[in-house]
Amino acid sequence: MIATKRRIVIQIMLAVVVGVVGVFVMKRGQCRVDDSNGLHERRWLSMGTVARYVGRGSSRHDAANAEIVKAAFDEVEWDLSVFNPESAISKLNEEGYIRLQVCNDPCEFDFLKVVSFAIEVARTTEGAFDPTVNPLMRIWGFRKDTVVVEAPSGEMIDKALAAVGFGKVVISTNENGMAEVRLGNGVELDLGGIAKGYAVDLAYERLKRSGVRDFIIDLGGNIRVDGNPSKDRIFWRIAVRDPADPTKNTGEMIELESGEAVATSGSYERFVEIGGKHYSHIIDPRTGWPVERGGSVTAIAKSAMEADAFSTAGFVAGLESGIIKGKLMDSSRWLSRRAKWENLETRR
Ligand code: ADP
Ligand code: MG
Repeated sequence: MIATKRRIVIQIMLAVVVGVVGVFVMKRGQCRVDDSNGLHERRWLSMGTVARYVGRGSSRHDAANAEIVKAAFDEVEWDLSVFNPESAISKLNEEGYIRLQVCNDPCEFDFLKVVSFAIEVARTTEGAFDPTVNPLMRIWGFRKDTVVVEAPSGEMIDKALAAVGFGKVVISTNENGMAEVRLGNGVELDLGGIAKGYAVDLAYERLKRSGVRDFIIDLGGNIRVDGNPSKDRIFWRIAVRDPADPTKNTGEMIELESGEAVATSGSYERFVEIGGKHYSHIIDPRTGWPVERGGSVTAIAKSAMEADAFSTAGFVAGLESGIIKGKLMDSSRWLSRRAKWENLETRR
């Protein structure tokens, strides 16, 4: 009972934080469904952005399916938000370690999978994506509900940088099916670059297990599709928003096959304003500074978590604006700060 009350209070606190963050969120018109063929869309707010479920069921079925998606998003927000003092991530950050039962598929909620995947992407991208950026997010004002007026000093950046680095996270498992995540001194995780993608995948898997077909799940531009948009079409067509003008689309259409996902990272979406200048919420973990560049990087992948992580990584690493597609996790070599990945198809 007390636990429930506490949970409600924290949920209200989270809603307030999301409201504050929402000040910095511009209109999310990023993706529209290029097909109105008997499809119905439901929208709501989740994790500080717009969530959508698009399906072709009866109104009653669609409403029930949207509830499944909503519940999955709420669970992920509860466990992965650094704004929730009771989340698994906050407990890990506070105590420096967490012990977990290794979960067998299908898994209800797999914290270990998200952390392990984040570290794997960090390794693949040579630290362009790095889930240990939390100390930097804090000094740049992304963890406060007040606006930061000055950029942090070089000394503050150096101090925060000393606690950044995916190599400072150790994940171990033992023969009893237990795992441990241990953080080095002062290290804190921030899974914001991957959490929305994971939430979409969790919702996707739950819908599939319930036998639902032909749908789109979208959480702030992290999109995963299933089935076909119509009898005579196998690709879902999704428009990409113009980074220079978020109210418009670039005119580019992404075609997604059943099961595929897409995500876009850019600096237009969330930022802090310091001295009249906008600083992006994507940080270059090598310099400690927010990434300063225009454009956006869109990644297409086999899971929403992968697309989410690699779009963020591509934006940090200076990939040319446009769309990347390929076996991202299998990419044999990450070409840091170059405009292309080897073994990947780069368009535009
Ligand atoms: P959005 O949240 O708009 O979808 P991203 O998926 O690109 O954007 O994620 C940005 C979030 O990722 C930031 O708010 C922060 O929590 C986290 N983050 C910032 N810089 C990095 C980085 N270099 N590597 C991993 N995560 C990052
Ligand atoms: Mg991302």
